[in-house]
Amino acid sequence: MNAAATRDSAGRAFVEMYDTTLRDGSQQVGLDLTVEDKLRVAAALDALGVDVVEGGWPGSNPKDKEFFARAGELPWRNAQLAAFGATRRPNRSADGDPDLETLLVAKTPIVTLVGKAWTLHVDEALRTTREENLAMVADSVRFFVREGRRAVFDAEHFFDGYAADRSYALACLSAAAEAGADTLALCDTNGGTLPDDIVRVVRDVLGQFPALRVGVHCHNDSACAVANSLVAVGEGATHVQGAANGYGERCGNADLFAVIAGLELKREHELLPPGRLGALAATAREIAEVANLPFDAKQPYVGSSAFATKAGLHASAIARRPDAYSHVDPASVGNQTHVLVSELAGRSNVLVKAAEMGLDLSSDPGLATTVLDEIKAAEHRGYAFEAADASFELLVRRVAGQMPSWFDLEGYRVVIEKTGGADRSEAIVRLLLGEQRVVAVGEGVGPVHALDQALRKALSELYPELANIHLVDYKVRILDGRAATSAVTRVMLTSADHEGEWTTVGVCDDIVTASWEALADGISYGLLRAGAEALIPA
Ligand SMILES: [Zn+2]
Repeated sequence: MNAAATRDSAGRAFVEMYDTTLRDGSQQVGLDLTVEDKLRVAAALDALGVDVVEGGWPGSNPKDKEFFARAGELPWRNAQLAAFGATRRPNRSADGDPDLETLLVAKTPIVTLVGKAWTLHVDEALRTTREENLAMVADSVRFFVREGRRAVFDAEHFFDGYAADRSYALACLSAAAEAGADTLALCDTNGGTLPDDIVRVVRDVLGQFPALRVGVHCHNDSACAVANSLVAVGEGATHVQGAANGYGERCGNADLFAVIAGLELKREHELLPPGRLGALAATAREIAEVANLPFDAKQPYVGSSAFATKAGLHASAIARRPDAYSHVDPASVGNQTHVLVSELAGRSNVLVKAAEMGLDLSSDPGLATTVLDEIKAAEHRGYAFEAADASFELLVRRVAGQMPSWFDLEGYRVVIEKTGGADRSEAIVRLLLGEQRVVAVGEGVGPVHALDQALRKALSELYPELANIHLVDYKVRILDGRAATSAVTRVMLTSADHEGEWTTVGVCDDIVTASWEALADGISYGLLRAGAEALIPA
């Protein structure tokens, strides 16, 4: 969407979605993006259809500088690129300021300048006069406006500044506005402001600057970043800054995805190009993958549990009227309903869950009951299917006689060796692949890794699909008190391919056997997903 388009089809002021994942978002602990990663995230955000992608702070590090040099390689379809920087240094001219020069060299249509709006920061952090700070804001904005750039003014600590000295905070905005800034972004930099204060302050600022685009940049330190963004738009703000999945330092920035979903689905704003809201969940997951951060199952709208329910009693009602149990249609954001399986599951729950997997059990009335009995027996032995959807599906398929077979285990042997400081394990796996007997040896760090290597080696020739399947997580839990005689080990193993993840479970009093079970099921399920041709079809 072009920033110049200021009205949507309903005649309402167009609300600009400004993403700062690559600048503010990447301040998050543990988030470290390479230039390649940054380009991938930018491409994903552009494809989703946000209006502005803030690429970074070219004056602060060489990585961001390189990003801007290479950003032109991307096929920008929806978003405009912004470069971020601070106002000029105190008591200097804007011309010749090295940081402003670096911003200019980034050649972005939008330049976002952060400046002080809180007297405390002017006095204590900047240690200059309040008049000089106003001149710094005005000079820096004017510098870029003269160069034909669109200037966004980020008023740092605006809400705290407003509380301390309203007239000075507004004077900072006036300095930017008079110098030609077209957008005033009010930043809740410390993230402590609550929604009612946001409403009051945004209303006041909108009254003072009716001709400008006024927006907010909220942090989540009071768990209100999304709420603050929504109420600001409700007051008439037309620019929201946020980050993918709420990434950001401390408690994060406003989750731009939740803001978009809320405004589109509940306030009828047109923010993304038509049809793109359905790509929200996939985009959120893709960015988490690039960032190499675990994806939060509880993340509103897009998390894998966002529409999951454990309520056994309600399963049939959910199947009948899904809208009665979820706040929006999961499909609208590209997500889906999940019914969790647990010991408490009723027969109808099993039917619903099986149908979700594309298995129709309704033709045989006894089948769902048999499945349920099997689940109860397995859960009694220590299995947990709530988080192991793949094992549940395999169990249903086995009971229903709809389980293909890709390999049969004849046996395995694992040797664990410790020499000096190094641990090394070797596994020998013997499989029957139809008529053929295959023996393969795998080495690894620990017995499970070695087994995984050997199994893959034995299967790789017959099933090239395996190359795309990898292990992402392995969890072991000792369940004691369940049996008086010995403790039981439960292994939860998560595998992934390009499309998503699945979890399998194995239970035994021997950790290697439990791991093998989860491993073999994980591989079988991956082959099933990939549509690999089975030796024995279902
Ligand atoms: Zn921030």
